[in-house]
Amino acid sequence: MTACVLCGSDRLAPLYRASDRLYRTTRKEFTVARCGGCGLMRLDPQPSSEELRQYYPPGYWFDPGGEIPGRLEEAYRRLVLGDHVRFVESALRRAEPGPLLDVGCGGGLFLGLLRKRGFEVVGLDVSWEAARVAWQRQHAPAVCGTLDRAPLRAGSFACVTMFHVLEHLPDPRTFLITAARLLQPSGRLVLQVPNAASWQSRLFGAAWNGVDVPRHLYDFRDCDLEKLVEGCGFAIVRRKYFSLRDNPAGLASSLAPALDPMARRVRKLEESSATRLTKDLLYLALVCAALPFALAEAAGRAGSTVMIEAVKR
Ligand SMILES: [Zn+2]
Repeated sequence: MTACVLCGSDRLAPLYRASDRLYRTTRKEFTVARCGGCGLMRLDPQPSSEELRQYYPPGYWFDPGGEIPGRLEEAYRRLVLGDHVRFVESALRRAEPGPLLDVGCGGGLFLGLLRKRGFEVVGLDVSWEAARVAWQRQHAPAVCGTLDRAPLRAGSFACVTMFHVLEHLPDPRTFLITAARLLQPSGRLVLQVPNAASWQSRLFGAAWNGVDVPRHLYDFRDCDLEKLVEGCGFAIVRRKYFSLRDNPAGLASSLAPALDPMARRVRKLEESSATRLTKDLLYLALVCAALPFALAEAAGRAGSTVMIEAVKR
C-alpha cells in the first residue's frame, strides 16, 4: 500500500468494488477506497502502467471524420464546449499574453475553438493519433508525449489547461509541479475533474459515471483538488461547478451507460444506422432531461464536475 498523495496517511478503508461499466475493457473488479487521514478516494491497489494501458481503448477521443453524423456531432460538441472556452478566455485575459498548452488535448476541438478566437495554442496528448487529428482537423500544433517529459520551455506559457486529466494519473503532483514550471509568473492553471462531492456522486455511488473504474485512479472532491493544487505552489482564483458538456451528459451516462455514444463507439458495437440514430436521440433526450438537475446541483456548489483557475504563489 502506498501513502496518500494528499496527506501521507497509509490508513485506507475500502468503499466499494466496481468493474469497467462504461467501456467493458475487462471483467476484473477493482476496489475504490477512502483515505483514513483526509478522505481522498482512490483505486487501491493502483494497477501498473502496463495493466492500465489495456483499459484505454483506441479511439478514446473524438475524431469527427468527414461524414454527416460526425459533422453534426462536431457541431454539438463545439456548442457544449462554450463553458470551457469562456472560462479559459477570461483566465487568459488576466495573464500576460502568451501561448496556451492543453494537456490531454485529444482530437483538439477545444484548441481549434481558441485558435479561431486568435489565441496561440499547443496541444499535448499521449496518443499520437489524437495529436495527428488535432493537427490535421483543427490545425492546432500538437505533440505526442506526457507533460513531465514534454520538450517545452520553462516559463513560456500564459495558460496550462488539463480537462479530465488529473484523475487518470498515478502521480498527479508531478504534472502540477511541471505545469507550475512551464507557466509564466502571471500564468494561469485551469483544471477540471469530476467532483466526488456532487449530488450525482452521492446519488449513484459506485454506478456514478465520474468513478469510471479502472481509468480513474482518484475520485477528487472539490476540496481535495484545491488542497492538491495549493500543495503544488498555486493559489485558487475561482471555481465553476457547471459544464454544459459534462454535467448533464454525465447524469445521462450514469442512468444509461449502454446509450453513451462514446462508449458505443469505443466498444465497436454493430448498429444499423436506424438503431444508431434512435440511440443517439434517446441519449440526447436524456441529456436534456438531466439539465435541470445538473443546474440545481451546480447552484448548490455540488456540480458533478468542478473547474478551477489557479495562479502561482
Ligand atoms: Zn489522505
